[in-house]
Amino acid sequence: MTIQTRVAGVSDVGRIRKSNQDSGYTGYNLFFVADGMGGHAGGDIASALTTQSLAHIDENYHEASQASKALVNAMWSANSLLTQTVKDHAELAGMGTTVSALLFADTKAVIGHIGDSRIYLVRDSAVKQITTDHTFVQRLVDTGRITPAEALTHPRRSVLMRVLGDVEEFPEIDTQAIETKPGDRWMLCSDGLTGALPEDLMNGILLRETDPAEAADLLVGEAIEYGAPDNVTVVIVDVLPLVADEQPASIVKPSFLGSAANEVVIEVRKGARMLQLLNPRTITDLFTPDQETSSVVPESEEYLEKILKQTKTRIRNRWIRQLLVVLLWIGIAVGSLSAGYSYTQTRFYVGVFDGHVAIYQGIKESLGPFKFSHLYDVTGVDVTALPEYQQSLVADTVSAENLPDARRIVETLALLASHG
Ligand code: CA
Repeated sequence: MTIQTRVAGVSDVGRIRKSNQDSGYTGYNLFFVADGMGGHAGGDIASALTTQSLAHIDENYHEASQASKALVNAMWSANSLLTQTVKDHAELAGMGTTVSALLFADTKAVIGHIGDSRIYLVRDSAVKQITTDHTFVQRLVDTGRITPAEALTHPRRSVLMRVLGDVEEFPEIDTQAIETKPGDRWMLCSDGLTGALPEDLMNGILLRETDPAEAADLLVGEAIEYGAPDNVTVVIVDVLPLVADEQPASIVKPSFLGSAANEVVIEVRKGARMLQLLNPRTITDLFTPDQETSSVVPESEEYLEKILKQTKTRIRNRWIRQLLVVLLWIGIAVGSLSAGYSYTQTRFYVGVFDGHVAIYQGIKESLGPFKFSHLYDVTGVDVTALPEYQQSLVADTVSAENLPDARRIVETLALLASHG
C-alpha cells in the first residue's frame, strides 16, 4: 500500500523584502521548502537552483533507506551545483540555502534537513516540530544554556551553522524516517513563518483549518498581518486513506513555489566586484549588531561562546531594567499605601467596647487581615442604658468626621442614656 495526500503550497515575498529568496516544491512523493540567503549575492538563485535540481528525485520508493539515500545524495549534488555556480560567477559568493524535505516511501515519511526551515507534524490534536534548527541559538537551547524564549528574540537567531552552498563538500544532513498514517498533517515552512507568527496562533490554524489550501493561505496571511519582515513559504501535506500500490502520494501536478517558479537567470550584477571582495557573509555576521537576514558561520565553539556572552549581557540588562521597574512599583505602592493609611487615621467612629460606648480612630473597614482602626477612648456610657434604636446604631458603629465630631456623638448618647 502507498499513501495518498492532499497538498497546498504558498510562497510570499512578505512586506519588507524586495525579492523572494524562498523556494518550494510540491510534487508526487516529494515536498520541500528551501530558504536562500546571500543578500545581493543571490539567495534567490541558490534556493531556485537547489529546488529545480532536487525535484528530479520525486519518484516512488519502497524502502525508507532508499528514499533517505536518494535525498541525501540529491542534497549533496545540489551543494556541488551551488559551489560550481559560485566558481563560475564569483559575484554569487556567499550564497546558500536551507532545505527541509519530506519524501514518502511506502508508509514512511523520510525527512532530509539542513538549515533553519522547519517540518512540523500535526497528529492527535498536537503540533510537533520534527526538525531541529541548525542555528547557534538552537544549539545553546539544546545544551540548556539559554531558554527557547531567549532564542526567539536573540539578535543572532538567524545565524546558521550549516546550509547547502557552504564550503563543505558533504555537509551533514539530518535524516529520519517516521511512520505516517491517514489523518497526519505535515507542514513545511521557511523561518519567515515561524519568525513572524506567535506559536499558538500557528498551531491553532494547523489544528482548526481542515482544508490544506485554506490553512496555508491563512498562515501566510497571518504572517503578513504580523509584518512579515522575511519571505514566507508554507507547504501543507495531508495524509489521506491508503490506496493501491504504485500510485504516487499526490495526484496533483507538481509545482514550484517562490523563486524556483521562475527560470533561473544569472546575470552580471552591479557591484559584483565589490561583493567579491566584501563577502556579505562576514560583513553582516560580524559587524551588524541587530541583523535580521540569515547568514552562515561555520560551526565553532568560539562563535557559540560569543553568542552566549551576548545573551548573558542582554539577560543582565533585562534583569536590571526589570528590577528598576519592580522597585518603582514598590515605591508607588508603598507611597499610595502610606498616604491611604494616613488618611484613615484622620477619621473616627463611635462603637462598642466591653458593653460601653467607645471612640475608635481610623475606619472600620478592613482589608483581609489588615485593620485600619484602633480603640481610642472608652466612655462611661453603658450601651444597655440607651434606647433600643440607638443601641443598634452604636452596634453598627456611627462614623464621625473627626475627634470633636465623635465627642459630640458621645455626648448626645450620654444624654439619651441618662434620660433612658
Ligand atoms: Ca528566511
